[in-house]
Amino acid sequence: MRHLLLVCLLVLCHSANALDRFQVQRYSLPNGLQILLKPGDDKGHVAIRLVVGVGFDDFSCERKETPHLLEHAFFSGLDGHDEAELEQRMQTLGGEWNAFTSDSDTAFVIEAPAVNQRKALDLLLSVITQPPLDDNAIRSSKQAVTHEDGGHDTHLEHLLDHDASSDDDATAQLAVEMGLKCPGQASVDSLTAKDLEKVRHDWYAPNNMTLIMVGDIDRQLPAYIEHGWGKLQPITPNDHPPLPEISQKAAPQRNLITHWLGEDARLHWFFTEPELGDQDAEIWELLNNYLDWQLYIALRLNSGLSYGPWAEQQAYGSQGFISLNADIDRDDLDKAQQVMSDLLDNLRKNGLDANEFRRLQNVAVAKQAWAVEGDSAVADFYWQAAEDSEDGHLSNAAKQLQAVTLTQANEALRQLLAEPGYIRIEKTLLDDSDLYWLGAAAAGLLALVIFCVYRQRQQRRRLAAKMQLD
Ligand SMILES: [Zn+2]
Repeated sequence: MRHLLLVCLLVLCHSANALDRFQVQRYSLPNGLQILLKPGDDKGHVAIRLVVGVGFDDFSCERKETPHLLEHAFFSGLDGHDEAELEQRMQTLGGEWNAFTSDSDTAFVIEAPAVNQRKALDLLLSVITQPPLDDNAIRSSKQAVTHEDGGHDTHLEHLLDHDASSDDDATAQLAVEMGLKCPGQASVDSLTAKDLEKVRHDWYAPNNMTLIMVGDIDRQLPAYIEHGWGKLQPITPNDHPPLPEISQKAAPQRNLITHWLGEDARLHWFFTEPELGDQDAEIWELLNNYLDWQLYIALRLNSGLSYGPWAEQQAYGSQGFISLNADIDRDDLDKAQQVMSDLLDNLRKNGLDANEFRRLQNVAVAKQAWAVEGDSAVADFYWQAAEDSEDGHLSNAAKQLQAVTLTQANEALRQLLAEPGYIRIEKTLLDDSDLYWLGAAAAGLLALVIFCVYRQRQQRRRLAAKMQLD
């Protein structure tokens, strides 16, 4: 009984903590730096996130990689030393760090022992405010960025219309067609130290940053942060350029050739999310979950055509997409497309099943209590909130998911499926049987050539013999 009571208390404490992430010490320094401090469950560890409000979307197509290149250049070394020496400094603190540039922000991510939290913060501050970036740093950063982007495309890759570096080829390709995404990878070749300094000057200012710390936080930390980070000079804030909207028509259906040879194919069926106004994020999330479940029933359980079909939400520019996706054998493409088509027709005709919808809604709500576990995940949750809303407002997703009605979801589904959508099929240029026929055709052609050469020689011999006789 006592054990049971202890288990109950642990469960209660745990769920209380998990929900407690909405209770956070939040303030800004006089220079505008936003601070989020959250004492966490894990003793002896802190998770640090510095989110800077500059990302790919703030630059034109040709200069898209500028914030990414700057992010890499920051890690190229301090005080005249190289990147290995900088990495050693973080290792000495017992921590790890990384950085990510996304469409909307650049984030610096640190996991460190609590005992070294001040030193880790000092090192991060030095990195983003270090002296002007030199040519060597920029050269090696360019190599890193080019490598991450999948290197320079070969002629062959151009021919196959294939970018080996990204997993979301079909969505990206559709976004390019619609004018939502820049075509091809932006080059870093023409970017200079001056360009990078300008990005740092224009965007790396305290009133464009959020510093998040979760974990075993030192009680004197607020004063320490103010002492170091409070010295950063604010800027007149820059406006973010408007996000691209759909400006071109995309083909209703298209085949994308991914490799030369193979039996696999991937079927995607995309729909653009219409504007719904309030609560749209929660409604689309619930619809996405519903479609995911329906695909599993239709393509895996009922037809066995795909082992793990999935529905997915993605966004390019200002446009959100929901897609139905499945990995299948090339030979089953038509069948799978028909199954998806039947599923969509059924949804258009009958809408959502009320019981199924409520059950999946309950799962989504319940998941909010356990999906964000541990200091690092809570820190990432605050980072996501800073990314998703202008003021970093923390919304209680569980309450908002719970508030979505079946009528709202059905209306969203009706609008989503009002258009036929866009089908994209990723497949190889040839499969095994194509190769067999191609091989047979090549062998036939070779035989024909040999025969012609043989005949020509015979004719020549006959002609020569005739001339000798004459
Ligand atoms: Zn990178």
